[in-house]
Amino acid sequence: MSIKERLHDILATLPEGVKLVAVSKFHPAESIREAYDAGQRIFGESRPQEMAAKQAQLPADIEWMMIGHLQTNKVKMIAPFVSMISSVDSERLIDEIEKQAAKCERVIDILLEVHVAREETKSGWDVDELRTYLDSGVLDRMAHVRVRGVMTIASNTDDESIVRGDFERIRAIYDELKPHFGAAFDTLSIGMSDDYPVALEYGSTMVRIGTAIFGSRSY
Ligand SMILES: *Cc1c(COP(=O)(O)O)cnc(C)c1O
Repeated sequence: MSIKERLHDILATLPEGVKLVAVSKFHPAESIREAYDAGQRIFGESRPQEMAAKQAQLPADIEWMMIGHLQTNKVKMIAPFVSMISSVDSERLIDEIEKQAAKCERVIDILLEVHVAREETKSGWDVDELRTYLDSGVLDRMAHVRVRGVMTIASNTDDESIVRGDFERIRAIYDELKPHFGAAFDTLSIGMSDDYPVALEYGSTMVRIGTAIFGSRSY
């Protein structure tokens, strides 16, 4: 199947209002172009240099989504154009996004990445640390960062009950935090190639799908 066919098959399964991030990391610009020509506009990348290089050679109306762990010293590379940073996992990173967005006279949308999976290695905020940080009010005073919601990567396991547990927890955190932020807080980003049908059951509003669209990655 072509990229276009796979893309359209997936889109046909998504309820109205659910956004699809086509995760194009490690795939060439030509593959992105193919998806773009099939109508896709939101693309997810995990490495700043790769994103910046692709952004420079592809159409300007693409929305570039940073989905991987972002080092603070790389924020300035993508700040002028990135549409959303969906892997925000520390206060230091938020401070740097605020600083770089201000320099570019932009407001950058972010998602707070929360750790709910069982694996110790997964990145993201510990829920209690996130609550303490939000209670401090620091984030509310930032004029160039807009919190749009939360994201997580579920446990990497064939045991669906564990994945469901992860999604249930992130959904509860989303519901808990929403009143703190108000109307702009509308994004629950869960679901990847292997688990997105399950994520939809838990109210995902933004799935991030790579392999099922572009095939496997060669790192
Ligand atoms: C790579 C990646 C994806 C896409 O994973 P697939 O299994 O290829 O769909 C989604 N989210 C994040 C954060 C990723 O790093």
